[in-house]
Parts: sequence; C-alpha cells; structure tokens
Amino acid sequence: MSVMILSMKEKTILGSGAVLVLIAILAQYTGNPVNSPTNVVGNMEGGINVTLLANAGVMIEAKDMRIYIDPIDLPREYSDSPADVILVTHDHGDHYQASTINMLQKDGTVNVFPAIMDTEIARHNGVEVVPEDELTFGPVTVTAFYMYTFSPVATTPASHPVESDYTSYIIDIDGFTIFHAGDSKNIQEYEELTGTISVALLPLGPGCQTMANDEVVNVIQIIEPEYFIPIHFTEGGNNQFVSRFRRSIEATTNCEICNLNYFTTHSFETS
Ligand SMILES: [Zn+2]
Repeated sequence: MSVMILSMKEKTILGSGAVLVLIAILAQYTGNPVNSPTNVVGNMEGGINVTLLANAGVMIEAKDMRIYIDPIDLPREYSDSPADVILVTHDHGDHYQASTINMLQKDGTVNVFPAIMDTEIARHNGVEVVPEDELTFGPVTVTAFYMYTFSPVATTPASHPVESDYTSYIIDIDGFTIFHAGDSKNIQEYEELTGTISVALLPLGPGCQTMANDEVVNVIQIIEPEYFIPIHFTEGGNNQFVSRFRRSIEATTNCEICNLNYFTTHSFETS
C-alpha cells in the first residue's frame, strides 16, 4: 500500500499517464474485500454505522449499542467490540458459529435465535423468537420476520423449510429500519414490508440456498427500500451482481445501491 503515501511532488513527476495507472491500481485495491478490522470501532456519536462482516454477517452500531447479525469468522480483534445484541437467523454453519458468539459476549449480551434452535438457545442462554415477535432494547426495536426457501422439486425438502420458522430481522432505530433477510427466497410476506424499510440487506445466492439474480431485483421492487446492501456472496460476487443489475434496479426503483466489500463500513446519517 506504499502507493498511497506518494508525496505531491512525486505525483507531479509521475505525470498524468502514471497517475491514471495509479488510480487503476488503487481502484483494484478498494475493489477487493479488505480483511482487516480497521473499522471495528465505529463512530457511535451520531448516525448509524453498518459494517459488512463475513458472508451474511453484519454489525450495526447506533445509539451506543452494537448489534451483530449472523456473525462468523471474525478476526480476534472483534473481541474488543462485544455485542449488546446478537441476532441469528438460522443454524447453518455460514450463519451460526458458536465460537464467534462466545467471543462477542460481555455482561448483559442478549443472544437471539429462532425457537427451533433449542440446543443453541440452551448453550448461549439465548432468547427464542418466531416470526413477528418483537423485542425492545432501549431505543431499538427488533422484529423477527419470515425467512424460508422453497422445495425445488416435490421429492427434495427445502433447504430452509417454512415449518422451521427461521427468522430474518427488522431493526428499528428511531424509525430508521434495517432489514436482514437471512437465507430467504422472494417470499409473499415481503409485500407487508413495502415502503417500510430504510436499508435492505439481501443475499445474492447461490440460488439453491437464497434468492439470486433477478429474484433479488424483484425483492427490491417489492420492498422498495431506500438502500440495498448485498450480503452472502463469494469474493467479488457483489461487484459482479451490481454491474449486471444496477441498470435494472435504477430503472425500476428509487433504491440506492450501497455496495460494501467485506469488513468495510457505511455510515448512514439520520436526521
Ligand atoms: Zn442457510
């Protein structure tokens, strides 16, 4: 990263051609997920910080509270940023990791799981929810919502059966609402969310496990969030998705795409 500390003089000497190459190199750097916890401690003063972690992991910092959703594979340094609340959508290994939940504990951490995860609820002294349950944490309200996928053929069970009552989550911070879809297909219950969501965190696939491609665009059209943040992608999949579907999202919705790489933060200013 030494390219970042070029002096003005050196930049002048390089000339415009070299600077363009330099910009291209820097763009390449920022185009890749940065696996460093430089954003562990966010600005808790004003605004709402959303940090994309690994896979579908998200950290929200607002109102002097830190909320994690589906945290896995976190660098050790995150033990310095323990959780007030941890929300788990379901028990698959890319969403639930016992060691990470243990690492994020402090006095009073509330660990929330779908009721079907009884073993994990016992293990982490957790709170159980089913879709439409509501929990209040001071100025923040968390509503469990629906999350499921469909059986691809009659003989094969769905990877996330509706009967399991797995949960997505809506986090309401003074009327600023963040929706984390977990592993879900485009489900009929999304029509209840139309116009109520500020930021939608939606998975990009694979299509056997979650919504994918046009389905993601359809969900944005139905929910009509102000912002969309892609989650649950393989490295570079966020950029591929955005370059392929940006035009269609922008042509059919007022939603702004907020494309984050893993372990980077976006601050939303709320008035
Ligand atoms: Zn899953």
